[in-house]
Amino acid sequence: MARRQARRRAEQAAAAATERLLRAGSTLRPAGARAATTPDRRAVFRPDQRVNDTPYRERWAHDRTVRSTHGVNCTGSCSWKVYVKDGLITWETQQTDYPTVGPDRPEYEPRGCPRGASFSWYTYSPTRVRHPHARGVLLEMYREARERLGDPVAAWAEITSDPERRRRYQAARGKGGLVRVGWDEALEIAAAAHVHTIAAHGPDRLAGFSPIPAMSMASHAVGARFMALIGAPMLSFYDWYADLPIASPQVFGDQTDVPESGDWWDAAYLMLWGSNVPVTRTPDAHWMAEARYRGQKVIVVSPDYADATKFADEWLHPHPGTDGALAMAMGHVVLREFFVDGHVPYFTDYVRRFTDLPFLVSLDARPDGTRVPGKFLTARDLGDEDEAAAWKPVLLDAVTDRPTAPAGTLGDRWTADGEGRWHLELGAVKPALTLLAPGARTAEVLLPRFDEGGDGPATVRRGVPVRHVAGRPVTTVFDLLLAAYGVRRDGLPGSWPTGYEDASSPCTPAWQEAITSVPAGQATRIAREFARTAAATRGRAMIVMGAGTNHWFHSDTIYRAFLSLLLLTGCQGVNGGGWAHYVGQEKVRPYTGWQQLSTAADWVRPSRQMAGTPYWYLHTGQWRYDRQGADALSSPTGKGLFAGRHTADLVAQSARLGWMPSCPAFDANPLDVGRRPAPPGGRPPSGPPTRSRPDASASPPRTRTRPPTGRVC
Ligand code: SF4
Repeated sequence: MARRQARRRAEQAAAAATERLLRAGSTLRPAGARAATTPDRRAVFRPDQRVNDTPYRERWAHDRTVRSTHGVNCTGSCSWKVYVKDGLITWETQQTDYPTVGPDRPEYEPRGCPRGASFSWYTYSPTRVRHPHARGVLLEMYREARERLGDPVAAWAEITSDPERRRRYQAARGKGGLVRVGWDEALEIAAAAHVHTIAAHGPDRLAGFSPIPAMSMASHAVGARFMALIGAPMLSFYDWYADLPIASPQVFGDQTDVPESGDWWDAAYLMLWGSNVPVTRTPDAHWMAEARYRGQKVIVVSPDYADATKFADEWLHPHPGTDGALAMAMGHVVLREFFVDGHVPYFTDYVRRFTDLPFLVSLDARPDGTRVPGKFLTARDLGDEDEAAAWKPVLLDAVTDRPTAPAGTLGDRWTADGEGRWHLELGAVKPALTLLAPGARTAEVLLPRFDEGGDGPATVRRGVPVRHVAGRPVTTVFDLLLAAYGVRRDGLPGSWPTGYEDASSPCTPAWQEAITSVPAGQATRIAREFARTAAATRGRAMIVMGAGTNHWFHSDTIYRAFLSLLLLTGCQGVNGGGWAHYVGQEKVRPYTGWQQLSTAADWVRPSRQMAGTPYWYLHTGQWRYDRQGADALSSPTGKGLFAGRHTADLVAQSARLGWMPSCPAFDANPLDVGRRPAPPGGRPPSGPPTRSRPDASASPPRTRTRPPTGRVC
């Protein structure tokens, strides 16, 4: 108490001294030179001086405000009030007119981040490139040839056809030497290069590239449309720079549909896995702090003490790139405790209705007598001759004990006989999750494991229950999943872990500890908590995922281990549950119209599309330096189709068989190919090969509206 009083007296004395100083300061100047002050005397206005505060005040002056955001591949899309004076941005503040989200939860606003607040500084930065530039040596050659020949295309053709001049401007690349050039001249050079290349080599020798139509629909569309109109390919982008979580279309069949960050508030248990929210989702990070007041438990999984870690109740720090092992061990715990030793009706009902776990899979025999998981059993295998029967996987109906093809599978999506069946209503069908029953027959399957060094991937033998359907042994995806995760059940043969502490067998908590460094007990407890919370809340457990794990090699398999956790616990599709991923979730909303515009489908179709990754791999010669065989990472249980082959061989094969577009497509100018006279009633003698499908049964039927091809966002 005494110390507090002493401190207050000291503060009062300091304030009084400050006041006296301020008053004295205003009397020290002669009366005529006294300037106006604010009432508290802390700000003085001196218009009589050469340096005064007028510029500072003008710095913030404006004649109007506009609403905008920062469309620079930032998915925050915060609403900003931009102050403009004489057509120049002077400053920005956050808009505060977001609609309320309700009285029982925090509001979105104010949204923003330090990068956005300083955005106008980027806009007017003196280092920003605002004019075209050209390599000086090239420009000199072009101007000389242009002057002499009097034609831009002829000038470009001469320069690029002369090995010596070509070498000179190409050798100058990367060494600076760029000079500013006017827009007219820059456009003329670019146009001449396009015209010459099309005439001499073909339009498919050009290529266009632009990222993120969802962030810049108009600018992407006009460039893509130009390429389509001249017959040049547009390269894909997401696959090339690895932002897109490929696991999303693999698992869900669509592009990264995730909840808004406001849904973090609804989660009862939240894991931040490879997502550093305060840095990468700055405007939404407040939800994290707020949701914790609601009792939410927050786990951060990050190898480093990332900014997000300060939010966390617990921090798991696996070695970089080992997240998949941690997730697999958590899946092991969930399957063991909530599907085998325990039973949660909500989970079982969910996976029966919304996942492929009940579907039947053939077990194929290998020459050495072992068996491996093969393809889904389909309605075609049961004798169904409908056009899409090969695309209707089959499950076992526990009520009738008969195999049946439920509605809502791929075969119902694009066919006439699938009309009205594109839904997940099961009706009276009750999918059997497992074939394990008293007296069930069993078989051992060979499963790959990639965690051991030595001579390459090894295998484990695990038993699964089997039935014979349509003349072949089958089991369910769920039974195979338990085998893959090493979750033993009584009565099944094979080699299994002895328990959570068995570090020699894949997917146990102890096994992951040796790989990730996360203590086995902690991994087990977090998995248990996650699933218990999901069971108690009917799926309100969430994983916020980010590029931290998405950019690792084979990130799709890492992600699938995360997604399995969410699907096993019934979280996907539930408010406050599922995966929340904030890379690759941007979308072009008016897609139908945008696609027509950007691919010039109103003028010519189909447009040429090309996958960016193999394009650069092949055309920059990277494949020559790739010493790894295509089978380096192939499964030891596979058929050896990649043995002795190079990745470039596989790319070439897929292009040749029409599985993937490939540009350029011919060893000749397509314009010349098109000009060749066709024999009566036939195609040109050496004309372009049509895209063939060697195995018609392997192609989805095409009787109804097809999804748009060449989707690029
Ligand atoms: S997160 Fe930052 S950069 Fe992105 S839109 Fe919001 S304020 Fe702008």
